[in-house]
Amino acid sequence: MPHLTLPAEGGCRCGRVRLKISAKPLLTMACHCTGCQLMSSSAYSLSAAIPSDGFEITKGEPVIGGLHGASRHYFCGYCMTWMFTRPEGLDWFVNLRPTMLDDPAWFTPFIETWTSEKLPWAMTPAVHSYAALPAFEEYEGLVAEYAKTQA
Ligand SMILES: [Zn+2]
Ligand SMILES: [Zn+2]
Repeated sequence: MPHLTLPAEGGCRCGRVRLKISAKPLLTMACHCTGCQLMSSSAYSLSAAIPSDGFEITKGEPVIGGLHGASRHYFCGYCMTWMFTRPEGLDWFVNLRPTMLDDPAWFTPFIETWTSEKLPWAMTPAVHSYAALPAFEEYEGLVAEYAKTQA
């Protein structure tokens, strides 16, 4: 399995917005919810939870998209690529769409969420599956377990 090499750079489809990560993900995820199906134009979204202090926009200015609600979904304003999400009330990490990275080959989703809404054929290699989301107090254990798989 390829490993993530840091720092890692990436950007949107057109290259007008570029970013850099310098911290390992806390957790990797696939989300099957219907909102993610719509915003990704696909079966599910992918996320790598990157600590905020290890995440940086190096070029351009992403714009808010999606529902413009409390969770902020950032897009390239030109090519409209859905790049990353700052979830409501969770300032310490950014959910980066890992395919933004120039080399996303290291990525696999460790958990998958909202399988209750998934397309019947949609499968991921996630170790843990949730009909909705994990309980808030489960995340600490999931982060520790994910870190062991990356050691
Ligand atoms: Zn773009
Ligand atoms: Zn979702």
